[in-house]
Amino acid sequence: MSINQSGWRPTAPQAGGAGAPTFTGNKALMLEEALIFEIGDTETTGVDFTGVAAAPAGDRLGGLARSAPIGLPGLAEPEAVRHYTRLSRQNYAIDLGLFPLGSCTMKHNPRLNEKMARLPGFSDVHPLAPVDTVQGALAVIHQLAHWLVTLTGMTSVAMSPKAGAHGELCGILAIKAALEKRGEGHRKVILVPESAHGTNPATAAFAGFSVEDIPATADGRVDTAALIARLGPDVAGVMITNPNTCGLFERDLKTISDAVHAAGGYVYCDGANFNAIVGRVRPGDLGVDAMHINLHKTFSTPHGGGGPGSGPVVFSEALTPFAPLPFVEQTDAGFRLVEEENAEDHHADSFGRMVAFHGQMGMFTRALTYILSHGADGLRQVAEDAVLNANYVLRSLEDTLDAPFARSGPCMHEAIFSDAGLAEGFSTIDIAKALIDEGFHPMTMYFPLVVHGAMLVEPTETESKAALDQFIGALRSVAERAKAGDQALKTAPHFAPRARLDETRAARKPILVWKEPTPVAAAAE
Ligand SMILES: *Cc1c(COP(=O)(O)O)cnc(C)c1O
Repeated sequence: MSINQSGWRPTAPQAGGAGAPTFTGNKALMLEEALIFEIGDTETTGVDFTGVAAAPAGDRLGGLARSAPIGLPGLAEPEAVRHYTRLSRQNYAIDLGLFPLGSCTMKHNPRLNEKMARLPGFSDVHPLAPVDTVQGALAVIHQLAHWLVTLTGMTSVAMSPKAGAHGELCGILAIKAALEKRGEGHRKVILVPESAHGTNPATAAFAGFSVEDIPATADGRVDTAALIARLGPDVAGVMITNPNTCGLFERDLKTISDAVHAAGGYVYCDGANFNAIVGRVRPGDLGVDAMHINLHKTFSTPHGGGGPGSGPVVFSEALTPFAPLPFVEQTDAGFRLVEEENAEDHHADSFGRMVAFHGQMGMFTRALTYILSHGADGLRQVAEDAVLNANYVLRSLEDTLDAPFARSGPCMHEAIFSDAGLAEGFSTIDIAKALIDEGFHPMTMYFPLVVHGAMLVEPTETESKAALDQFIGALRSVAERAKAGDQALKTAPHFAPRARLDETRAARKPILVWKEPTPVAAAAE
């Protein structure tokens, strides 16, 4: 029985929002929307199918023909369009406003990138198309690879990993292959600073290494002395994020790399924050052996509920022989794809493959467009402006919010604050929720773990001063209310489609399956 036939209607929107509730539950342009199961019915369809010609005699489905309704909700076309458009308006997007998430580089995606990615020669390309029919697409991959190697000062790049975390795995597998080739597969420890992104220790553990934490110093950087003291014959390498997740540049990275190499290990650099140093610093000069680049952060391709990621990994000379396949090579006869490990291609030591095909073509096209449209000077300015904007946020708010590393000097691309100084009982989450009422996506909260009640703000270079000033004003106002103990903050957000949720319950006991409610009439019988 369909829901509409049963006479059941979605319940009125939950109370708790500010302002008088309306008949519909809508608040002007903020439109309530029930689940598609609640508004759809099994009799309606937005598609007209032509009638099926009479089936030949006999049961072609082996007795598996459906005998009961499938139970999927149906909507007429305009209803379906409205349903998804209404839902999309309940979401936040970089195209709506500043997205202060730290460690994510949520910046504007130039429309030119989209235009290029939609050219049929790129958007319709098939990974199994004969190589001589896709020379242009291979040229894009090859040219992007060239610029990634150039910008990082490294020797080679694996283009196929599909996100940052996937790139980390790629780099660590190359390190593992290199150690095994040397007969040192017994090196099982990877050192990771305690401020690391959670994907770092997860990657090392997934690849079969054991992870040991290296403490941070009071100024927010890795404790170089502690790290060097821990090096030894059981250490495979280190994973260090630079700039790090406290928004600071690891000034000792070259010293660390030299010590790690001298002790027989490798240096993996988490390059997710490359946005802050692109065009200014080449990780290859700092002794890095492998580093992933999040194209979807540094080179602007959409992410965060949008497009797919892409995490190419650049390698030093030492790790290049172990890089995964496939890759594109330029020959006199055009571009060719190297897909097999064999001695003749000098790739006998490759650790294998990360993915079935060649990586994210759409992301490659967007990233190359971004690089070419900015040029060398433009990319350098990206880094400079990202750092300038973050320092503007840091210095504008350090009189209101505790900024634990403000004394360590300028920050890189991220400003970090703590919850010290808020009124008794108030925490970072109250500030984050009140920012939703102010029309902003919250910043990264409670990360990195080394800062109590951390608020990590990455404004990026694509925000104007006016946009930054508005965000700073909103954050200042909310922080002052949290310091004054404004109780209304405890139940924020008040103007969002949903008020404060029980997030622990939502995470621990999520209701993922919709069940048809008992019709009122049936329940009364
Ligand atoms: C985003 C990020 C990652 C993971 O990248 P994904 O593309 O999300 O897998 C790893 N480390 C740092 C520091 C990051 O910011």
